[in-house]
Amino acid sequence: MHSENQKFLETIGDLTEFEPGFVDFFSQPEAFVQKRLVITKDDGSLLIVRGYRCLHSSLCGPGKGGLRFAEDVNADEVCALAEQMTLKTALLELPFGGAKGGISVNPKKLSARERQRVARAWTRAFNQHIGPERDIPAPDMGNGPEEMGWILDEYETINGHSSPAVVTGKPLPLGGLNVREGATARGAAAVVKEMSDHLNLAPSSATVAVQGAGKVGSAIAKRLAEEGFKIIAIADSSGMALSEDGLNVDETFAAKKENGHLGKQKDEESDKPERILEISCDMLVLAAGAGQVTCDNAESIGAKVILELSNGGVELKALKKLDSQGIHVIPGILANSGGVLASYFEWLSGQTGRESLPKDLEKELDKKMAFTASKVYRLSQRHGHNLTQAAYALSLKRLQKCYSLRLGSQ
Ligand code: GLU
Repeated sequence: MHSENQKFLETIGDLTEFEPGFVDFFSQPEAFVQKRLVITKDDGSLLIVRGYRCLHSSLCGPGKGGLRFAEDVNADEVCALAEQMTLKTALLELPFGGAKGGISVNPKKLSARERQRVARAWTRAFNQHIGPERDIPAPDMGNGPEEMGWILDEYETINGHSSPAVVTGKPLPLGGLNVREGATARGAAAVVKEMSDHLNLAPSSATVAVQGAGKVGSAIAKRLAEEGFKIIAIADSSGMALSEDGLNVDETFAAKKENGHLGKQKDEESDKPERILEISCDMLVLAAGAGQVTCDNAESIGAKVILELSNGGVELKALKKLDSQGIHVIPGILANSGGVLASYFEWLSGQTGRESLPKDLEKELDKKMAFTASKVYRLSQRHGHNLTQAAYALSLKRLQKCYSLRLGSQ
């Protein structure tokens, strides 16, 4: 764990007393494996990339977490994200630990057949490290159901038996669930709804700026617009679309498809999409990568509430400044945990059959997200802490329970 994280844990010592040895235990991932992967490209040349998997903790169950396809993915990033998964699954009280994987490829530069070879090569290399009761991958940046289907197929081929729960986020005919796609945005919307009274976020009057127009960014923009929020800006690395009267979200994304960038022209605004952080609005949604809000730019944030959908979108050390400006941050381990919650339903269905699942999974997801959000909010109020501190405290409380039951008084 980075020293910044340790410092942050010190700020919640009064919310959760740390068991002896726990912070050291939690600071180190349980296992980390990296391997060279060799893939044959369509033209016959070889592509050499790095594959990673970090199992941060299996205290509360098998590892769970996505597999990221990104050219610059690295060991530190994968381990930090695995730790976030441990916190997320514990916060939701799921029978999972936390894990994360990565492959250093840019999927946009690969053909579908090459992407398939990449997914299969990773599965062969990490076959012994994954499994329905060991560590269960899922989609993350740069991939989706197609890649999960290839991972499933490769795993079952190698091991010689059916194993539908080895991976989640699969295509529907291979055991995926409707609720999985869009679950992150759905869960975040449920959290916002639960907190709307406390944070002054009435859909009829609140304005929203969305940073990020990928899978999660576009889904949350659409969802919040459907619920009546006025989306006044959407930005990604290509540009920014702005309208004080509210954007038509579908038209905005359709125009991006046509022009290749967000915003009307490649004008001044479009050239500075990072200015979205400064726009004065009720809620800023972070759905673009880690480290967007930092100590350096905290003072220029224009929103009253930040919804952190990207893992680590707000640096922990920036929270103090944001607190002093009266800006609330809905932390990623709560806001984006709808994805792993839907993954839990899918894993359960793979392990025990579809019949064992509740009928209305969307309702179930909304309910669980709202319940967790209200627990986080109440704890933050009781002790005058921010929402991130409260979410970490709740999560760490559960982790420590498992820790002392497994490892205490030996
Ligand atoms: N990649 C998603 C996340 O970061 C989902 C993980 C999962 O479903 O296991 O939460």
